[in-house]
Amino acid sequence: MHQLTLAEIARGLADKKFSSEELTKVLLARIAQLDPQLNSFISLTEDLALQQAKAADARRANGESGALLGAPIAHKDLFCTQGVRTSCGSKMLDNFKAPYDATVVAKLAAAGAVTLGKTNMDEFAMGSANESSYYGAVKNPWNLEHVPGGSSGGSAAAVAARLLPAATATDTGGSIRQPAAFTNLTGLKPTYGRVSRWGMIAYASSLDQGGPLARTAEDCAILLQGMAGFDTKDSTSIDEPVPDYSASLNDSLKGLRIGVPKEYFSAGLDPRIAELIHNSVKELEKLGAVIKEISLPNMQHAIPAYYVIAPAEASSNLSRFDGVRFGHRCENPVNLIDLYKRSRGEGFGPEVQRRIMVGAYALSAGYYDAYYLKAQKIRRLVKNDFMAAFNEVDIILGPTTPNPAWKLGAKNSDPVAAYLEDVYTITANLAGLPGLSMPAGFVDGLPVGVQLLAPYFQEGRLLNVAHQYQLNTEWHTRTPTGF
Ligand code: GLN
Repeated sequence: MHQLTLAEIARGLADKKFSSEELTKVLLARIAQLDPQLNSFISLTEDLALQQAKAADARRANGESGALLGAPIAHKDLFCTQGVRTSCGSKMLDNFKAPYDATVVAKLAAAGAVTLGKTNMDEFAMGSANESSYYGAVKNPWNLEHVPGGSSGGSAAAVAARLLPAATATDTGGSIRQPAAFTNLTGLKPTYGRVSRWGMIAYASSLDQGGPLARTAEDCAILLQGMAGFDTKDSTSIDEPVPDYSASLNDSLKGLRIGVPKEYFSAGLDPRIAELIHNSVKELEKLGAVIKEISLPNMQHAIPAYYVIAPAEASSNLSRFDGVRFGHRCENPVNLIDLYKRSRGEGFGPEVQRRIMVGAYALSAGYYDAYYLKAQKIRRLVKNDFMAAFNEVDIILGPTTPNPAWKLGAKNSDPVAAYLEDVYTITANLAGLPGLSMPAGFVDGLPVGVQLLAPYFQEGRLLNVAHQYQLNTEWHTRTPTGF
């Protein structure tokens, strides 16, 4: 039963082959048995899950239907869940029980999804390896000595290990697409503003976006359908109608123009990944797509710009954790400054502290123009490159990451080495564009992802291309040994 996708679960529940309660019990038992190897969950919500499953079964018995009604999922632990710890992977929020549900959580619960728990993540979503979590590193089910990617590594490892069919995640610079690539999943970062950020603990507000992680494009369509939509509580949420994502999955790819940026294949990309990407291009050509070489000339500036803008926004967002209102408070402060200093010093881990310092420096009066303003100008150039490219092509295709998942600890002493691994993903966040990663093969037994980018609000097109590709390839069906 644990191998079923969301689409198959919906059919099984509709045909009364099993109940949501039965399925939920099977998956909770599987998590108890296998998750100690992976550490993909921070909190389990067994009681809530069984209660939601029973309620979903009752709704179905009353004649209700719906693709998510009774479907088991989990939430990345930065989506606020009422009465349940929402830690953001940090000691700072280890004792924090959210007083309300994030919009995404509330929408999925209303659609009848069953929450099994909260997944592990890099502290405050800062990282690409899920090693900065206060709750310990997450392991990659494809090789337990390797990282699962980050920051949504817990969601990715859990779904890849078939502990559940799908999970929510967030992507500020690649945190949905990169762990999807590292664990053989399909993950979609929607257009900025498509999914409400209300109740999603902020890292870098102009870049953060929630989205689905699942095994297939078909399942991403189902989960995104439940997450997307305008929300008056999020001032950057966009009031655009949400299309039926499942309805366009089977559109033909005949004549679809795919752009492959020449800059993507420069030094730094593992040649074995380059070959797999070329294979995926050939596969899409067979399905009728037309391939065109394009250029994104400002791509090389994206990493430095991102690693100024994201920490700048983080330093501002994280100033609310001061030991006064919520979160960790130090013992016996002697005065207010001591309270701030020690609460923050004890509550935040080293990567978070590094980013707060970098961000505060970049925003300081003397350096604002040199760093923050300059980075914002680069951001505009990156966006302009994409706008020019999308005048010529419908989709942009390339690798999701330059290398497969690295060994646990391999980049711990060199944060910049880890930042460089984000080269293909962060441009979509800087521009606010939707992007998807899907399985494209293996290197040394580790999964490789191909990334697709589309114009604003063309999530349906991404899912359509990925679904057609998955109907004709079998990479996404592979299961890690032992799971
Ligand atoms: N690796 C990037 C960072 O550490 C992206 C993280 C994310 O998307 N949340 O900022």
